[in-house]
Amino acid sequence: MLDVMLSVPTQALIGGTWRDAESGRRFDVRDPATGHVVASVSDCGAAETRAAIAAADEALASWSAMPAAGRAAILRRWADLMIERVDELAPVLTRENGKPLTEARGEILYGASYLHWFSEEATRAYGDVIPAPASDKRIIVTKAPVGVCAAITPWNFPNAMLVRKAAAALAAGCTLVAKPAAETPLSALLAAATGLEAGLPPGVFNIVPGVDAAAIGGVLTSSEVVRKLSFTGSTEVGRKLLAQCAPTVKRVSMELGGNAPFIVFDDSDLDAAVDGLMASKFRNAGQTCVCANRVFVQNGVMAEFASRLAERVATLTVGHGDRSGTDIGPLISEAAFAKIERLVSDALAGGARVLTGGGKHPAGDLFYQPTVIDGITADMAVMREEIFGPVAPLAGFETEADVIALANATEYGLAAYVYTRDLGRAWRVGEALAYGMVGINEGVLSSAAAPFGGVKQSGFGREGSRYGLDDYLEIKYMLMGGLSA
Ligand code: NAP
Repeated sequence: MLDVMLSVPTQALIGGTWRDAESGRRFDVRDPATGHVVASVSDCGAAETRAAIAAADEALASWSAMPAAGRAAILRRWADLMIERVDELAPVLTRENGKPLTEARGEILYGASYLHWFSEEATRAYGDVIPAPASDKRIIVTKAPVGVCAAITPWNFPNAMLVRKAAAALAAGCTLVAKPAAETPLSALLAAATGLEAGLPPGVFNIVPGVDAAAIGGVLTSSEVVRKLSFTGSTEVGRKLLAQCAPTVKRVSMELGGNAPFIVFDDSDLDAAVDGLMASKFRNAGQTCVCANRVFVQNGVMAEFASRLAERVATLTVGHGDRSGTDIGPLISEAAFAKIERLVSDALAGGARVLTGGGKHPAGDLFYQPTVIDGITADMAVMREEIFGPVAPLAGFETEADVIALANATEYGLAAYVYTRDLGRAWRVGEALAYGMVGINEGVLSSAAAPFGGVKQSGFGREGSRYGLDDYLEIKYMLMGGLSA
């Protein structure tokens, strides 16, 4: 065990109390950069999940009745504490996820920004008075919290994916039971500990770590007490959870996989496009849902763009996220590494060409070289599957209509990026892309002020912005009659 882990909570948080699994079982959390065990965490299952749901149910009445300003004050304190503690929280995140320390710090601050944002939105859950069809009646609309909610979150942003759900849910007056990814439970548990310290009452935020995701998810989705599930993860698991939520007719938000097109027109500022692609593609070693997955470059600028990009990518420093100057950490698992090898070798077999990288990096078993390949065609697996690694595949295109068709030829619809200096084209293409989010001359889209989410099989629901609160609120209509004198 490493010293940095000694003060990290490793039990479930249920009803404000840290608890071991009833079975006494624990599971190991490993540093993907070294394979070393960095902590051992309570391995919870169905029993603890049921207890957490009961605790969230018990806490619901008083939390939802608390004036919004009271909930807001706690969320604000929680954000401030996360910011104050960023230098304690970030190394833990790097240790379990592998991302460079600067990115881990960025993630904690990003998570905190949602707490700040929703602390303000909490006080603005306005209702409405609608003109009634009769003079002795009034139509009144109020917003009510959905109730007990569940969150299931992935390993790639172990703090922020959880905190941005919690921020909106708790601001709305809901209570929450969360299941973090088994690879990265520590950042989630630390976030929960910080929330408790900020004054969250017992039972408002419960967290159940464990390796049996199907058992925990089964209880969360089948419970009649849980009124909403918010899931971030793969489309494959999202589909299963949607089906499991059907019998109890739960509200559902799905933040699923992506296959983002990154389009570079020949009129674009090529340096800005290279900067944007570096930011979009190589953050978190290419393991983000909004990572550029398919890079479409207009044929007139392909040679120039490819050479500038390959030159930049070759300067990236690969290594342990703890080391200063590291740009690219390890992939999360052997399966993730094997997938990248498969996608690259399939592309090369189909006639693609490596411009830089293209194989394992000597830093360790799970490190892959930052890679650029060109000569990519639409039928290759690298264009159809979510890569989730530091590989940028370049494909040429001729016309605006061609690239819109290519970009939309996927079941995913999360993020897309367009580089052009032609204002009309920016609007035309931006509107024609079937995606929930479009960056125009921008490679990084996400912010607490903006609605994050996808269309098609990338899911539905939005996180962040004023729309994000609606996901946790029910519209309630009251008709007041008998007003005539
Ligand atoms: P994943 O395999 O779907 O896992 C996500 C979460 O679901 C984890 O907590 C996992 O638990 C849990 N899970 C797995 N099987 C389950 C089941 N049968 N019942 C209940 N829970 C279950 O996805 P991942 O590989 O961790 O994350 C990468 C994916 O997330 C990518 O597709 C990425 O695009 C997507 N993502 C989307 C967004 C977005 O906002 N749209 C953001 C980030 C990531 P265990 O870890 O314990 O298996």
